[in-house]
Amino acid sequence: PPVAVVCIGMAGSGKTTFVQRINAHLHTAGTPPYVLNLDPAVTRVPFDANIDIRDSVNYKEVMKQYKLGPNGGILTSLNLFATKIDQVLGILEKRCLPPELQSTTTAGDVSAKTPAPPAPGKLPQHILLDTPGQIEVFVWSASGSILLSSLASSFPTVLAYIIDTPRTVSSTNTFMSNMLYALSILYKTKLPMILVFNKTDVKSEDQAVEWMRDFESFQSALRKEEEEAEMRGGSGGYMHGLVNSMSLVLEEFYNQLSVVGVSSMTGAGVDNFFEAVQAKKEEFQKEYAPELQRRR
Ligand code: GDP
Ligand code: MG
Repeated sequence: PPVAVVCIGMAGSGKTTFVQRINAHLHTAGTPPYVLNLDPAVTRVPFDANIDIRDSVNYKEVMKQYKLGPNGGILTSLNLFATKIDQVLGILEKRCLPPELQSTTTAGDVSAKTPAPPAPGKLPQHILLDTPGQIEVFVWSASGSILLSSLASSFPTVLAYIIDTPRTVSSTNTFMSNMLYALSILYKTKLPMILVFNKTDVKSEDQAVEWMRDFESFQSALRKEEEEAEMRGGSGGYMHGLVNSMSLVLEEFYNQLSVVGVSSMTGAGVDNFFEAVQAKKEEFQKEYAPELQRRR
């Protein structure tokens, strides 16, 4: 079966640009993916989505009708879409699995833009999903969980956590916040995760990787920032103890991840990303799938 790659990350980290890049890469390689856009609020999608949430729900109308702000509008649109998850899975199975592996047949109003089922031997090897700009709406909502767990019950599923590298290495603080956020998502979703350090055309991922692999180096960067803060008359100090005591937890967390640096702008690192996807797909099938079976 194909592997589902769900791209998540903070607003502006580059999810949409990344999906555009890996989509183009797979097309060039002669193995076109099946692509879903789950961001109801995006105005321009720079790739051809086979299924687009915007064809099923009108975000602007939802906001007006339920008198909601932007985030409430996105959340409600996602909820409405999640009620159609059976249809979505039906389409995915029809388009991405050989007939003998298809379990559902559903008709409905979710539209897919692929005209006909692909010929055998031409089935997509990847399903790509772009998610709403605001990460919390997808990751911490009931409908986000439903979409993810339904997907993972039909396909090997991996998370690509996209990181704005220049921003995240700008201080130990933002770096640590970003890592803890990724950690909380790993524990919530229980899916294999790839950390994608994006925008390496602006700033290489070396600093981030060093901080992950060598705790001493992270500590000394932290100490340096605290000294600078004290010199400016601010207070330093207390983060240090906290971060120290988290180091073991973080080490365990880092060991579970694949880490790649990419530029969605230039395409650098995309091959490494797909190697990581392959490794995580196998991990899903070996370790996660049996666990999912057991929980059901
Ligand atoms: P999203 O909210 O996570 O979907 O982020 P977008 O894909 O919309 O990207 C946010 C901004 O980052 C846009 O201005 C992109 O052009 C820019 N961006 C995305 N990827 C890269 C990259 O690899 N390098 C650079 N320099 N900019 C990028
Ligand atoms: Mg986006």
